[in-house]
Amino acid sequence: MHDKSVVSSLESMGCEASANTWLMGKGFTSLLGLDRAEITALVHEAGEPGYRAKQIMDAVYRQRVETLAEISTLPQEFRERLAQSGVTVGAARIENTFVSVDGTVRYLIAFADGQTVETVWMPEGDGGEAGDGSEAGEEAENSSPGISGAEAHSETSEPIAGLKRYATQKPSRSTICISSQVGCAVDCQFCLTALLGVKRNLTAGEIVAQVCAVLKDQKVSPPEDRINLVFMGMGEPFLNYENFIKAARLLVEGVGIAERRMTVSTAGIVPRIRDFGEEKIRPKLAISLNAPNHALRTRLMPLNKKWNLEMLIGAARDFPLRTREWITFEYVLLGGVNDEPNHAKEVAELLRGLRCKVNLIALNPGPGIDFTTPSPERVVAFQKVLRDAGIPAFVRRPRGRDIYAACGQLKRTVEVATSPDAHLPGISPAPEA
Ligand code: SAH
Repeated sequence: MHDKSVVSSLESMGCEASANTWLMGKGFTSLLGLDRAEITALVHEAGEPGYRAKQIMDAVYRQRVETLAEISTLPQEFRERLAQSGVTVGAARIENTFVSVDGTVRYLIAFADGQTVETVWMPEGDGGEAGDGSEAGEEAENSSPGISGAEAHSETSEPIAGLKRYATQKPSRSTICISSQVGCAVDCQFCLTALLGVKRNLTAGEIVAQVCAVLKDQKVSPPEDRINLVFMGMGEPFLNYENFIKAARLLVEGVGIAERRMTVSTAGIVPRIRDFGEEKIRPKLAISLNAPNHALRTRLMPLNKKWNLEMLIGAARDFPLRTREWITFEYVLLGGVNDEPNHAKEVAELLRGLRCKVNLIALNPGPGIDFTTPSPERVVAFQKVLRDAGIPAFVRRPRGRDIYAACGQLKRTVEVATSPDAHLPGISPAPEA
């Protein structure tokens, strides 16, 4: 009797149209992805006392259980009833782990239907990620993105010393980069994920499940451990808007990560940028600019034909920023394509008067990507032009390039690992954990 009622209660709550569509189609659902109101409705429908909702919320989002059996606060009978209704926790499974010499870990994460995405853990090490959005929380706590606030970082690092540090010390502040879709439909010409095309959207539960799986594996727990989140993995979050925003809310209310510690990056889905500005609970905004003018942006990011630079900058100018908040513009530097000092001048002109900063990323190379990485000198010269024009600009140190964990390199591990041309010049094959 209870079996059907739990499911039908979820259906009547409109779940079939949101996070759990594909699960509901199969007649069962996962707890991960349900918010407090939905879990309360489920508990109510099951004829259980109201406080069970909090017990379930805590178990799923704070304790990060993987099975109903682990929710020891619930009576055995209720757990069995949930299981019989086809309800699961909906935890993600870590299928593979790759560890970089710089401490970055790339996870291959699998969901119930066997689809996989990649999620990246970036432990604090040498501060090399300053200015890349991963220090979102710190930025909010400091007053401005001014040039004195963070130093530009070169491409050089000390892998061995860094590794030792990671091995002995729990990081005080780390960043998880999460995926929002399996693959991506936005055809950015320099991005490896784009080569996959889009397979499907992730549900809100699957987006949150990545964070839960990584937190558990790393044995860290917010808010005691400072965790920053960036929605910068596989996929375009604003083309999976409802699930993305629900996941962000669940990460705040369930997992306990402050919204100021989260940053979402979009390729420039202009109408969704405007919707996003209206959200009560929302991460900070990063926009992938990547080109200084219409012609070049259209070439590098074909979506610029639909939502052009003028519309994009218009939406950025209208974006309702909070106190001490600014927009981050990301700019991938491609050797001889968009990295001329004149391009930097154009960018400065475009962004003039906007409360923003620019994160410069030298191209992370990959098989099938037809661009070159500019030299560090070129990158610094570009940065200098921006800074001289009064635009805070930071050079983002690549993380985990050796294991294909850096920006734009996320592609399903199996495909990259088995690709005959997967080995990059100067980059050693990934050691597997
Ligand atoms: N779809 C979203 C988020 C994922 S991409 C977006 O486009 O913003 C995250 C960032 O990585 C973007 O700023 C993107 O421009 C950058 N990126 C993509 N491919 C890259 C590459 N090969 N090297 C360096 N950065 C890259």
